Amino acid sequence: MARIDLVDLAHSYGGNDAAPESFALKPVTMTWRQGGAYALLGPSGCGKTTLLNLISGIVTPSRGKILFDGADITPLSTQKRNIAQVFQFPVIYDTMTVGQNLAFPLQNRGVPKSEVEARVRQIADLLDLTFYLDRKATRLTADAKQKISLGRGLVRSDVAAVLFDEPLTVIDPELKWQLRSKLKALHRELDLTMIYVTHDQTEALTFADTVVVMHDGRVVQSGTPAELFDKPAHTFVGYFIGSPGMNIVPAVVSGHEARIDGHIIGLHRNYGVLPAGAKIEIGVRPEFVNIAAPASGLLSAAIERIDDLGRARFARVRIGDAKFAARVPPGFSVPDDNMVGLVFDPAHVHVYADSRLVEGV
Ligand code: ATP
Repeated sequence: MARIDLVDLAHSYGGNDAAPESFALKPVTMTWRQGGAYALLGPSGCGKTTLLNLISGIVTPSRGKILFDGADITPLSTQKRNIAQVFQFPVIYDTMTVGQNLAFPLQNRGVPKSEVEARVRQIADLLDLTFYLDRKATRLTADAKQKISLGRGLVRSDVAAVLFDEPLTVIDPELKWQLRSKLKALHRELDLTMIYVTHDQTEALTFADTVVVMHDGRVVQSGTPAELFDKPAHTFVGYFIGSPGMNIVPAVVSGHEARIDGHIIGLHRNYGVLPAGAKIEIGVRPEFVNIAAPASGLLSAAIERIDDLGRARFARVRIGDAKFAARVPPGFSVPDDNMVGLVFDPAHVHVYADSRLVEGV
């Protein structure tokens, strides 16, 4: 397994002369540490597969370099990069048994027979495939076939990295839940560098130690699930991660105060120096805006509706033109006039200038 460095890496399917804004991957410099479990998360079309294909060598970058353990591998073919890949749909040999399928990537590289057998047993055990080892793959369900694909991706211990491109898309929802946690356990057990592409935040947050969030061809934040939740570096991350996502509301900010539609919210830090002319917004997660009975000193807001998500209830409220999602405490009933007070947790109110997090002092 390897440490992977991306150095000013960028790609345009329209060639290097295309307008910078049209690049499928805008320039990125970052390090993926050896043995890390990474998720590459973002909506459809944000550039996840492009970045994954650049790392695997399926796509040649328009600019920049990729280093594995410090060595420039940009000119190398996919085969020479020593990468294992698992795709959305099963890639297996139907005529072979499950065991032969798992053994194939090892035999192909001349690994001694005893080692092949031991490793196949280990992977089959980890993926609950031992019972099927002697069965022809063609007789198995689509779910089992995709498990074999996962096994083939994980069977070699000498790869620089294992890349997964939405590998659970075709899996039945119940098994998907189990496999998500299983992949996390497999990462701990096998100690491989893994990069897992998905547009599903639950999948990303369950699997990864580090989640790399992409938006419009850019890496906008790379951090632990807790960092992405507690301190989104970009308004997109706040909005995209969480359910419901972060409230992002235009505000006027000075010192320790934010004003929304003339109402004041206290801030934990001082924002005396904000870039002149920047579009300022505040971001606060619905979990940190509480609904209470109207009272002096509280912002008053009108409830538009309540969404009951089973595990929690969230109210959609309005203050002037600004709309918020706010947590509804257990047992709270909506007053006849729909008016409530809002309690903000100042430690969790963030300030953004042109969509980027501003650190207060
Ligand atoms: P999805 O989750 O839908 O697969 P993604 O985040 O993986 O999306 P990419 O597939 O990397 O995104 O696509 C990024 C951008 O590059 C999109 O605008 C897409 O239309 C474009 N694109 C992808 N592949 C090609 C290609 N072979 N030729 C031209 N444009 C492409």
